[in-house]
Amino acid sequence: MVQVKSFVFNPFSENTYLLHDATGEAVIIDPGCSDKAELAAVESYVEANSLKPVYVINTHAHIDHVLGIAALKRKYDIPFALHQLDEPLLKAVKTYASNYGFHGFDEPEIDSYLKEGEVFQFGETALEIIFVPGHAPGHVAFVNHAQRFVIGGDVLFRLSIGRTDLPGGNHATLLESIRTKIFTLPDDYTVYAGHMEPTTVGFEKKNNPFFR
Ligand SMILES: [Zn+2]
Ligand SMILES: [Zn+2]
Repeated sequence: MVQVKSFVFNPFSENTYLLHDATGEAVIIDPGCSDKAELAAVESYVEANSLKPVYVINTHAHIDHVLGIAALKRKYDIPFALHQLDEPLLKAVKTYASNYGFHGFDEPEIDSYLKEGEVFQFGETALEIIFVPGHAPGHVAFVNHAQRFVIGGDVLFRLSIGRTDLPGGNHATLLESIRTKIFTLPDDYTVYAGHMEPTTVGFEKKNNPFFR
């Protein structure tokens, strides 16, 4: 059984996810921790549940999803992986972070690249990596078939979709990603998005205003 713990961090109300299973191994996805209190929230959860974080992985590299990576890498001495096509976005964060009030962005080093079709494994849990560009050029999502959920980042939200007016965004590409990669999953799969509450593939296929 993999547990999905979510935290809401930083002024963008970004969802940071921590997945862990019976082995105690944990993976941190999109850590948006922007201050000491938000980092402490992750650390206390890890401690309270006697977890061993083994990796940080990201769906994409917008500022609200990357603020806590470097600190958590150092704290747990763990590697970080991202899709290669989002590396320029990560490198760009330090050039605009202060515009959003984040001073001295701590840029993490990328230790490996996530590739579509590969399976990311931790503990006894498997996450299939799917490539879903449009909101960001190197956006990926993580699918757990055993428990039927997707960690989707900023691709598909409850009754909405990711914005595409940021550098590297493309509306048509995003719609295509959702149609061909997310809506082809079974209807009962839960979608844990980068913002707002979870939804399901079936609910969005039926009700999402961008697909009617
Ligand atoms: Zn984003
Ligand atoms: Zn976001």
